[in-house]
Amino acid sequence: MQYHLNGFDGCDDPLKYQFKGSQEPDFQSSLPSEVDVLIVGAGPAGQLLGAQLAQFPDITTRIIEPKPGPLQQGNADGLQCRTIEIFEAFGFSERVLKEGYWTMETTFWSPTEDGKGLKRTGRIQDTEDGLSEFPHIILNQARMHGMWLDAMKWSPTRLEPSYNRQLASLDIPKDGPVDVVVERQDEGHRGEKEHVRAKYVVGCDGARSTVRQSLGLEMKGDFANQAWGVLDALVETDFPDVRVKAAIHSAEEGSILIIPREGGYLARFYIELDKLKQDERIAKKNITSDVLVERAQRIFKPYRFDVKHIGHWSVYEVGQRLTNHFDNVATVNRDTESPRVFIAGDACHTHSAKAGQGMNVSMNDTYNLGWKLASVLRGQAQPKLLHTYSAERQVIAQTLIDFDREISRQFAAKPKAKSAEENGSNDGDSIDPAVFQKYFQRKGRFMAGLETQYKSSAIIAADTKHQHLATGFPIGERFHSAQVLRLADAKPVQLGHVMKADGRWRIFLFGSNTESPLDPASRMVKTCKWLEDILIPRFTSSNADIDSIFDVRAILQQERQTLNLPDLPEVLLPHKGKFSIQDYEKVFTDEASYGFGHGEIYKNRGISKEGCVIVARPDQYVSAVLPLGEEAFAPLEEFFGGFMADVEKRVNGHS
Ligand SMILES: Cc1cc2nc3c(=O)[nH]c(=O)nc-3n(C[C@H](O)[C@H](O)[C@H](O)COP(=O)(O)OP(=O)(O)OC[C@H]3O[C@@H](n4cnc5c(N)ncnc54)[C@H](O)[C@@H]3O)c2cc1C
Repeated sequence: MQYHLNGFDGCDDPLKYQFKGSQEPDFQSSLPSEVDVLIVGAGPAGQLLGAQLAQFPDITTRIIEPKPGPLQQGNADGLQCRTIEIFEAFGFSERVLKEGYWTMETTFWSPTEDGKGLKRTGRIQDTEDGLSEFPHIILNQARMHGMWLDAMKWSPTRLEPSYNRQLASLDIPKDGPVDVVVERQDEGHRGEKEHVRAKYVVGCDGARSTVRQSLGLEMKGDFANQAWGVLDALVETDFPDVRVKAAIHSAEEGSILIIPREGGYLARFYIELDKLKQDERIAKKNITSDVLVERAQRIFKPYRFDVKHIGHWSVYEVGQRLTNHFDNVATVNRDTESPRVFIAGDACHTHSAKAGQGMNVSMNDTYNLGWKLASVLRGQAQPKLLHTYSAERQVIAQTLIDFDREISRQFAAKPKAKSAEENGSNDGDSIDPAVFQKYFQRKGRFMAGLETQYKSSAIIAADTKHQHLATGFPIGERFHSAQVLRLADAKPVQLGHVMKADGRWRIFLFGSNTESPLDPASRMVKTCKWLEDILIPRFTSSNADIDSIFDVRAILQQERQTLNLPDLPEVLLPHKGKFSIQDYEKVFTDEASYGFGHGEIYKNRGISKEGCVIVARPDQYVSAVLPLGEEAFAPLEEFFGGFMADVEKRVNGHS
């Protein structure tokens, strides 16, 4: 973490220094009549977006939320590896790692041969080695919300949701800001209307989204006829796997998924309930917690299942539904119109809960959108960039829906007595436990949130001919972190963790093993010089820090001791802030550390010894892999010129 750039601020929490105002802002009394972004709903999607936009003091953001205050009890608890990587970018991964349950293993249980008992049929590693530096974590949603609130609270704008307010209506005029009517819900103001004109509105208002309905977008798909119960409980049991994630298929009583919870004692049980009749809704069934406990006891037999305390329970039905696009622009108008209203999270896709995807995908939606909105609002990018949000995320949601349909079917299927080989293929109603386990394993990367690969677009290069220079950084996938050694102070750092949620592009320069990075004739120095003289000034105002839009980092193959830091190119040691102080933290080597191992990034990420350039988006997805040196210059100019705004042509830019 870097701080004190503009002077020593004292010894309190450095996050507090981010706020430069003299008076803490008030988000509760009233809404401003004009905002840049109005976020509707403070669920996981809305809070991430708020935390992202809160990083920019020049952007006015408000989040409206009907609840009277922070969430007290949430549904979701599973956090994918990718989500923890995002938390790292917002600065709170350690808290989640400390408090959460680490899902390291999954076991599978099926009926014994006589159908009277249960036996363990498999045990797998939850996340394959090396997939991410973070594990899959379980932590209650309300707790995670608290961390988002802190991330906003300690941001430069001190943002917090404006509670007791719900969207009443929105109107999108042909030009200009969106007209929004907000209705207050709090005592003394109930029913009062507030009018807000917002440049952009983002509907993060959940499955019954008012924003989606205002756009006339329809959720397509099915309400499946399977009911499930969720029980968070303290349980006395002789079942041996109550502290690992375990999927149990009983012979006749249905299935259970055990998700151990944070804190060491609590566990969550997803319990299969009865099939619903055509058009029957779960609310009509009057299910109580006793029904869930009794069903769980039958599935667990012959193991004991004595519930001592229930923390939370609910019932839900499984359905998979999705909208065609995630913004207000109809497909036929995409060439002429830029979107001004978006939907994200459950507002545009809903599915079952057991694979622990919904909250994660929802947050990934707004992580994709946040930096784009900020770039456009700050004049750094052209508004057409905003089209990439729906284009990229709708495809991901469709993949999720397809996956969820299959995993829900497999969970609800009865276990086959004989193996699939003996019995022929699996029919729709029964499944071989081995097939179920294999599907789980095969989908490990997907469930970890790491299978996303964005297609070529304005922000993902179509040209993949240099991919062989960095095979471990596939274009379109998220930048896969590895440990490197910081040149200036020998600190081992995860390279991926330099990518904070600050809206900046990263240009990683991987050096060659045959050219000295201190030699002016080397491709490293030439690339640095070109970036400093041509690319960066084209898109960065002369009064902003040189790394305010492009954060250039170098990873070198030479030994630390052979490199004299001050001799490196200026763009790697930029002078910044009001005192023009040098930043020494942008150069790394690929060496063993003192006591913390060796990341071997060149070997482990398939980086060519001749070096390369990797461009990563502000949300950490790899946009381009290019050779080091002159060969990269034209493609880089063309790439960034395609969607960024030249400084001289900006009308409303700040940076
Ligand atoms: C039992 C269960 C377990 C689950 N477990 C997991 C899990 O382990 N992992 C996982 O990833 N997902 C899980 N999910 C799914 C997850 O809860 C959702 O996908 C996720 O909460 C979606 O986030 P969101 O921000 O899009 O919407 P929501 O969480 O629904 O938030 C929407 C917000 O908008 C507000 N709102 C609604 N209407 C308005 C309005 N008119 N004006 C202003 N605000 C409004 C609401 O009050 C709410 O705060 C589970 C779901 C269930 C039901």
